Amino acid sequence: MPTTLLRACLQRFIVLLLVLTAAARATAADALPETPGWYRTQIGRFTVTALWDGTLEMPVDKVFKQPGPARLKALLARAYLTPTMPLSVNAFVVDTGTRVVMIDTGAGTSRMFGDKLGKVQANLRAAGYTPEQIDEIYITHMHTDHVGGLTADGRALFPNATVRADVREAGYWLSRETMAAHPDDKEDFESAMAMLAPYVKSGRFRPFDGGSELIPGIRARPAWGHTPGHTVYEVQSDGEKLVLWGDLMHVAAVQLPVPAATVMFDAMPVQSAAIRAQIYREAARDGAWIAAAHIGFPGIGKVRSDGKGGYSWVPVSLVRGR
Ligand SMILES: [Zn+2]
Repeated sequence: MPTTLLRACLQRFIVLLLVLTAAARATAADALPETPGWYRTQIGRFTVTALWDGTLEMPVDKVFKQPGPARLKALLARAYLTPTMPLSVNAFVVDTGTRVVMIDTGAGTSRMFGDKLGKVQANLRAAGYTPEQIDEIYITHMHTDHVGGLTADGRALFPNATVRADVREAGYWLSRETMAAHPDDKEDFESAMAMLAPYVKSGRFRPFDGGSELIPGIRARPAWGHTPGHTVYEVQSDGEKLVLWGDLMHVAAVQLPVPAATVMFDAMPVQSAAIRAQIYREAARDGAWIAAAHIGFPGIGKVRSDGKGGYSWVPVSLVRGR
């Protein structure tokens, strides 16, 4: 047999072997149940459950305006990340004992952010709740990876919930005039309108105006910048504090060490960077718990200051043992 022919045969045999091994591995993995996508902890007397919606592919090298390509590359490499990285999407349930409150809802059936999202409903049930038990839903902002889980096929997925968001957020995303003025974001506007529609129609959408106590122990705090009415929620119980950040930041590996780093989809970048720096500062000073929409699941932890304007993430498992 000529050498070239022998080499070709060998190559085919190796390829076949690799395919068979991959198939065997896929079959074994498919037979196992999926990793649980919920995590539970206590904040004072309140029970907090993180719900995993899945991941989206974030082209980090394309979405940041700062801190420049070389620094960005170094920050990513330091965190073992590649320029396109999987970004977790997390929603949360805060159970006060008298009210069950959900903060954001994931992307639902929308495919605007890829096909690896939409697991919140299944994970909510796996965590022991039914959608009917959710009394209130607090929305950080109306991008689809946060409101997409509210509604499917025009039907409210949380039939007993009242939905709340800042009046500025509602005024922006639910306005046909604003949509006409921002043709590039038409899909986002239409999605927000469709997701809120059944709640608006049934009188179960109640906007609030800036900083407000929504129920005892949970306050809305303005963090306008990422969107016109972006809000973080502060939960307090028995001396413990949890701040639900929404999209105050997107990529921990970049925006914790460099709070000024701003993503291209921040509507008001200067404001967004200023409020981010302020809220980081407070969180490090107070040692408050944080629940972030896009930090690796469960997205719960604390931040530590490096004393030079930068911060690092301390995941909940390192503080509480699990
Ligand atoms: Zn988001």
